[in-house]
Amino acid sequence: MRKKIVAGNWKMNTTLAEGVQLAEEVNAALENATPKCDVVICVPFTHLAPVAAKINQTKLGLGAENCADHKSGAYTGEVSAPMVASTGATYVILGHSERRQYYGETSETLREKVALALENGLTPIFCIGEVLAERENGTFNEVVARQVEEGLFNLSAEDFSKIILAYEPVWAIGTGKTATADQAEDMHAHIRAVIAGKYGQEVADNTSILYGGSCKPSNAAELFAKPDVDGGLIGGAALKCADFMGIVNAF
Ligand code: PEP
Repeated sequence: MRKKIVAGNWKMNTTLAEGVQLAEEVNAALENATPKCDVVICVPFTHLAPVAAKINQTKLGLGAENCADHKSGAYTGEVSAPMVASTGATYVILGHSERRQYYGETSETLREKVALALENGLTPIFCIGEVLAERENGTFNEVVARQVEEGLFNLSAEDFSKIILAYEPVWAIGTGKTATADQAEDMHAHIRAVIAGKYGQEVADNTSILYGGSCKPSNAAELFAKPDVDGGLIGGAALKCADFMGIVNAF
């Protein structure tokens, strides 16, 4: 059966000291808790090793927010999948809409990143989602299906089974505008059907599909109650321990 997961995406927020403190707070909140989902924090590269040293990863998973599309070499400023893995992190967000939009990430580069992440034992949290114009002109189902197909359908069924998907409608990210629980459910069921068409129903049923976009303690329970919504990728609300734990406890 697929996993329920709540993952934080800290983006480019917190200094190292602030980040370590936040990670320690979340770690402490989970220490004596028995959440009904896996909990993960994805943090800036600079924070990975110091945070890894402070948290109990049997209770709180750790991930990066990106990795390079090359293994090593003359790529100044890049951080590779083996480097991320060497910090002790085990997850990596790939294809976030901010990376696609501001840094020109394409399905082609994402296929390289996914392959390198998997080779290095990292679990990709692969993001997909339509922009507002695509929601409004009704092409959102095709757009999201294409992102899944182009980014991931080169994988074997075995490798695809290691992927976590995050549906994040771009118009809902950081805007305070959440997709309704029904809009999220419709899209998640659509994505699952697309996966079933390629890899079969069993693989589709075992794939965790998270929702992301202005998820907060007040709307998480309604979203997570939907049968195809397996948790959340959380931006702004992951930066305060109480809010993040409020979402974790929505399960
Ligand atoms: C995100 O960027 O992954 C995200 C879901 O952001 P927010 O929760 O702030 O909308």
